[in-house]
Amino acid sequence: AKAAGRNTHYFFTDDLDKAVKESLLIESELRVALRELQFELYYQPQVDLKTGKLFGFEALIRWNHPERGMVSPAIFISVAEQSGLIVELGEWVLAEASMFIARLNEKYNENYTVAVNLSARQFKDKGVASVIRSSIINARIKPEWLDIELTESMLMGDISEALHQLDDIKALGVQMSIDDFGTGYSSLSYLKKFPVDTLKVDRAFIKDIPEDTDDMAISDAIIAMAHKLKMKVIAEGVETPEHVEFLIKNNCQIGQGYLFSPPLSEEKLHQFIETEQKN
Ligand code: C2E
Ligand code: CA
Ligand code: CA
Ligand code: CA
Repeated sequence: AKAAGRNTHYFFTDDLDKAVKESLLIESELRVALRELQFELYYQPQVDLKTGKLFGFEALIRWNHPERGMVSPAIFISVAEQSGLIVELGEWVLAEASMFIARLNEKYNENYTVAVNLSARQFKDKGVASVIRSSIINARIKPEWLDIELTESMLMGDISEALHQLDDIKALGVQMSIDDFGTGYSSLSYLKKFPVDTLKVDRAFIKDIPEDTDDMAISDAIIAMAHKLKMKVIAEGVETPEHVEFLIKNNCQIGQGYLFSPPLSEEKLHQFIETEQKN
């Protein structure tokens, strides 16, 4: 038993060692990537479910690694977060997305919103509101064109500190959304205190509609609650016409997902908009 225990122990250390080495490697490559600007923002359309009209976009980062190709944020965002590199990376995302909004709304003479994901570390940073303000000023955009996405877990913990940060950001005139709603541990009693415009229903509750009646009940309840709190609702992971049918029936206005489009490069996005306009 002792020998087995030791083996397990060594196996575990070995594995852990590998994971640590891997994340140190990613971290050092991320530093190079930041210097050489190997990142690119992709944009996923958000669509008005009833009219089919384009509502806005979510900016999603991609890392164009010289050897590994496109690396998903699922792999590097947590490393960037742990190493603190997310602060610099997040500033780049905000600046880049803001300049994109300026080009986009100028080109189409529209008021599309673009959502940007904020990480927990960025949100805790006292300077975050001034970073957002600089991006808005430099790009000369209307603040309401920018939508800041936060997750529930970032708002729990020290509620009064979170409220303070939220108020500072909201005072800039930007929109604010709670991302992945329903998967965190938010206390519903605080929800109404947060200056938030939109709830994004997590894909987890959408994906098994219409087979999963529990998920339908939960989605329905989230949508109804959001409306009572005068918030918009965006459903994530809309993949099928059945999803759309359910969402329209339950008054969810906006959807985002592969049914409409995956995240697109800026070039592909213009093709998307121009085809939309022809239809
Ligand atoms: P998220 O904010 O929840 O973004 C939605 C994710 O769902 C995106 O994955 C998107 O490509 C994917 N998705 C969209 N529609 C569908 C669908 O119909 N089906 C399925 N299965 N997936 C769909 P992505 O781009 O890989 O991003 C993963 C996560 O990485 C994001 O989740 C977000 O938490 C984080 N992330 C991405 N960009 C940034 C960024 O600029 N800053 C920060 N802090 N985090 C980011
Ligand atoms: Ca998001
Ligand atoms: Ca999400
Ligand atoms: Ca997510």
